Amino acid sequence: MNMHSEREARGFPRGQASESEHVEDSPRQAAGSFNGKDAPAIAGAALKEPYYRPVGREAEVFEAAYRARMAVLLKGPTGCGKTRFVAHMAWRLGLPLHTVACHDDLTSSDLVGRYLIKGRETVWADGPLTTAVREGGVCYLDEVVEARKDTTVILHPLSDDRRILLVEKTGEELHAPDSFMLVISYNPGYQHILKDLKPSTRQRFVSLDFDYPPEDVEAEIVVRESGLDAAVAGRLVRAGRRMRRLVDSGLESAPGTRLLVHAAALMKEGLGPQEACEAAIVRPVTDDADLHKAMMDILNATF
Ligand code: ADP
Repeated sequence: MNMHSEREARGFPRGQASESEHVEDSPRQAAGSFNGKDAPAIAGAALKEPYYRPVGREAEVFEAAYRARMAVLLKGPTGCGKTRFVAHMAWRLGLPLHTVACHDDLTSSDLVGRYLIKGRETVWADGPLTTAVREGGVCYLDEVVEARKDTTVILHPLSDDRRILLVEKTGEELHAPDSFMLVISYNPGYQHILKDLKPSTRQRFVSLDFDYPPEDVEAEIVVRESGLDAAVAGRLVRAGRRMRRLVDSGLESAPGTRLLVHAAALMKEGLGPQEACEAAIVRPVTDDADLHKAMMDILNATF
């Protein structure tokens, strides 16, 4: 029995949708049981299990980190399952998920909150990080090194054993509840050296390495996500793995599982394999004519 049906079997009710724009999969889920311990009732947890195929012991490490009230860092290339993993784990733990896609203009105010002018009034609006600290839940900062440096100052006291969020503008010092978990991700290969995470930051986090799944697992994921025939999916994954090796020939970013799933979805809609893969994999990863041709050669040899 999965965790969700276990909850239902124990008679935990399902509730209504939460309105927060930062909470994914809005339906509310009431109190659940987590490894024998009662989890707090929290609004906004996902109702439907996000499909995630474990590759190693990442789920067990994540759960242990949650129980130990520790923050987690996910390292790995784009499109290899980090975001899906976090969504799945938030579901397993019965927690709402607040996801922030970080970018180079993202400031600490975007995370913590700001005063807004409403008519003649000035009202305080919590940012997603503050909401998660106040209400509990997983706050996932995707590609955190992209954010402005001032965000680090906020994350340090929150990610070590103090678990404090200082909301400077309102003068509040918020203590994170046990049900709060900070998760950040970064892509070590892609980021510029100047944008690397500082040791003082990364040493506060329990770290998990992500990579492209093994071939058979990746094929299983592609089948499950797209509904494509297993034999064709197997060929697609084989081609994808060969294309990834072109990184050694100058391909800037290798096609992740996400792109294989995209190509499979187009094939499922009736496009031929070459056309689907060119549109969903080749063009999104390169503008270079030689690399484009090399990828098409792999596809022609595979299909
Ligand atoms: P990342 O956050 O690492 O960039 P995502 O989590 O968004 O990547 O993964 C991209 C897509 O790849 C997902 O939407 C899903 O279809 C698929 N995927 C990758 N790894 C897995 C996995 N282990 N289990 C299920 N789906 C996966």
